[in-house]
Amino acid sequence: MLSQLEAYRQEIATYPITNAQQLEEYRIKYLGTKGLVKGLFGEMKNVPGDKRKEFGQVLNDFKQFAEEKYNTAKETTVSSEAATVSQIDLSLPGNPTQFGTRHPINTVRKRIIDIFNRLGFAVADGPEIEDDWHNFTALNLPENHPARDMQDTFYIHQNPDWLLRTHTSNVQIREMEKGQLPIRVICPGRVYRNETISARAHCFFHQVEGLYIDEHVSFADLKQTLYFFVQELFGKDVKVRFRPSYFPFTEPSAEMDVSCFICGGKGCRVCKHTGWVEILGCGMVHPKVLENCGIDSEKYTGYAFGMGIERITMLLYGINDLRLFSENDIRFLRQFQGAV
Ligand SMILES: [Zn+2]
Repeated sequence: MLSQLEAYRQEIATYPITNAQQLEEYRIKYLGTKGLVKGLFGEMKNVPGDKRKEFGQVLNDFKQFAEEKYNTAKETTVSSEAATVSQIDLSLPGNPTQFGTRHPINTVRKRIIDIFNRLGFAVADGPEIEDDWHNFTALNLPENHPARDMQDTFYIHQNPDWLLRTHTSNVQIREMEKGQLPIRVICPGRVYRNETISARAHCFFHQVEGLYIDEHVSFADLKQTLYFFVQELFGKDVKVRFRPSYFPFTEPSAEMDVSCFICGGKGCRVCKHTGWVEILGCGMVHPKVLENCGIDSEKYTGYAFGMGIERITMLLYGINDLRLFSENDIRFLRQFQGAV
């Protein structure tokens, strides 16, 4: 009899209960009015009188064991069924969608492109791996020209004539070489320089350059176009000034400053207390560059300009370290969520 009870204990311990139906089957089989436990108590009358008390105790232990199994299983089955119900509760809020963010460089590039699109400039694209002619020589930067020192870059090992472009001016040359005039394009893109990486310089950055070539294009056209551009970008109150400068590919050449839009020209940390911030370089396309591309410099004139997107982005958002743009730190990038 006792060894039989041990076998029943084993049976109960391994009895599978994973849902309400199995739970009920278990209850009927072991604890019901015609169940095993009741049946065993019925055997009591066959036990000799002197062993009856001891046997009764063993049976009570067994009954408790069977009931415990039932109560534990009831709890887990009921709570897992409650969870199933809550999963289809339509009144609960949904899982929020994770929104990505546009990179601040892309946001500003898009704004710049939009402004020039409205002035009739098309977007032109070109290769980042370029030959010496399109990056330097055609732009009036012949070999050994000292201005090449300011634009040291990376050369491709197999062919020293191939390099990573130092500006997007190579796209301007390629557009001019097509020979279809007039030309009115902007060239956004990534450029490379052999520079030590710091808060203010990087071995790659982004530019937008512009080129307009037609008959009778003058410096006045250049000034008015760029004035419109900075008003659209920084606001109607912005003032501009041009300082004479030097670039091998333009003549005359100028740097354009805008009045500091942080302090309104009074002087602050951003404008180094001058009231002005440098925005871009520009000038009239050098006749030699036009001739290099087969354009008649007696008939056609044009202007060109170029700006760094990083610099403008840093000014617009008050960012003080260029390296943040390429570190992929989402704590930085998430701050531009919703920026237009
Ligand atoms: Zn200022």
